[in-house]
Amino acid sequence: MTAVENVSGSTGESVLPPALLAELDRLAAVDRLLVALDFDGTVAPIVDDPSESRALPAAHAALLALSAMPGTTVALVSGRAIESLAEVSLLPETVLLVGSHGLEVRLGDLATDEHEGSLNAVELARVDADQLSALLEHVAPLVNAVDGAWIERKPAGFAVHTRQVDDAAAVRLHDAVREAALALHPDLTVRRGLNVLELSLRDATKADGIAALRAATRSDAVLFAGDDVTDEDALAALVAGDVGIKVGGADSVAPHRVPDEASMACVLVALAARRLVSASV
Ligand SMILES: [Mg+2]
Repeated sequence: MTAVENVSGSTGESVLPPALLAELDRLAAVDRLLVALDFDGTVAPIVDDPSESRALPAAHAALLALSAMPGTTVALVSGRAIESLAEVSLLPETVLLVGSHGLEVRLGDLATDEHEGSLNAVELARVDADQLSALLEHVAPLVNAVDGAWIERKPAGFAVHTRQVDDAAAVRLHDAVREAALALHPDLTVRRGLNVLELSLRDATKADGIAALRAATRSDAVLFAGDDVTDEDALAALVAGDVGIKVGGADSVAPHRVPDEASMACVLVALAARRLVSASV
């Protein structure tokens, strides 16, 4: 029994909308397929400690199976710093990684000089270090005053996490941090996510990540799925022939929707099973 057959047996694709299954049929048959996914809240359930985050077993097995199939590239596109994404995803190096909302790109053997030169986390950190330190000094007292809130350093910015803060206090903190940071740095890129406020000295989005992946893989079609506000940039960058999926109930431009990470795992298992059949006929 292969990994795909094994996970197919434990999850039902009957929970998926017929229109989405029809799109998976079509995607499974293209020559070069890119499966690009957000990680947290899409293939991995949200947990309090981000370092403990792991893909659901069925999703993980399907991603492994897809990444080993000919003409198929799997990529993760996350707001996490790329090192953090590599640590929690536990996938082989053939799986491409986009971190920091498109600022960092790890394209493996498909890397070009352009990306090697311009999107290097070490370089970014050195250039931005002074400005970042000043910003952090400015907003850290606001964050430290709220129980359960904490700051995550990123290559070109930082994130204020509020997963363990009640909703009203989290909104107040996000507003206060946003105002203080923009007062110091009017050009700062500020993004509000689910229980997180992201501040970046550099303007990149997940659409930039999708563009880099699409160019590097020369894919005929892209599947992208994500749960958060920042995933909307990537969903909006999809073109005819691609498939966009929103995970969860938030507003979205995506034409397809699944309710949670478990049903997203069903999508990946269904796609892997179909792609396996397509490759063998
Ligand atoms: Mg997410």
